[in-house]
Amino acid sequence: MNTEIELLIDLHSNTNRQGPGSKADTLKALSFINFDKSKPIKVADIGCGSGAQTLVLAQNIEGHITAVDLFPLFLERLKANVIELGLEHKISTLEKSMEDLPFAHEEFDLIWSEGAVYNIGFEEGVKKWKHFLKPGGYIALSEITWLSNTRPDDIQEYWDNIYPQIDTASNKLKILEENGYSPAGYFYIPVSSWIDNYYQPLEDRFDKFLEKHNHSEMAINIVEAEKEEIQMYKKFKDFLSYGFYVAMKIQP
Ligand code: SAH
Repeated sequence: MNTEIELLIDLHSNTNRQGPGSKADTLKALSFINFDKSKPIKVADIGCGSGAQTLVLAQNIEGHITAVDLFPLFLERLKANVIELGLEHKISTLEKSMEDLPFAHEEFDLIWSEGAVYNIGFEEGVKKWKHFLKPGGYIALSEITWLSNTRPDDIQEYWDNIYPQIDTASNKLKILEENGYSPAGYFYIPVSSWIDNYYQPLEDRFDKFLEKHNHSEMAINIVEAEKEEIQMYKKFKDFLSYGFYVAMKIQP
């Protein structure tokens, strides 16, 4: 008998991404960062999943990326791609919780995290991870964001239940400023990064997933919850997206 988390991992490990995003979004966020290209940098990619964005980063920076996730199955998928693309010298994986990272003080030039910081909360993440960042180093995070100041009650209530820290970009930027970062860039990702890259591949997997788990009650409930999320997104997509936040840790 599988646990709910095992079923969720099974559903999500057979798709290329575990959250909304795209290669273009990753490159756009990276474009806000000015590094001296002649010096190799140290990067942590936290909550990397199967590493779609880790591979894009590795192909576009000089240096080394430590890709962290709590679940070994995602890291196995990333490792297979790393070998296939010959990126072993640029990416290593680490099975750890983002709450309890074994990194040294000011170890990294760049901390990256796409669609994952919500697991500990945006504010907690920017506070905790700052310790690992060099002064002048950058953090780049994507995080669920309201696109305007007002929205229908239905979508507000739905997200307040899932993740009450959902907020507007100005409030997220304020959290960065209040915690010793200087905002360097913000944009929100397009609908195609949600539908084409995340929800559609997920929907395509539902039938196989249900069959594999003999239409168990737990598997059915998981699919129903995903369907509700997809439906809510499609209905209210003008009001929310993933915001991408890039900020520099200010020099003391
Ligand atoms: N960055 C990837 C995955 C985003 S989904 C992408 O955009 O495709 C969120 C990821 O956070 C999942 O891979 C999940 O396994 C991971 N995760 C959840 N809780 C975690 C924790 N406490 N520590 C580290 N990773 C965690």
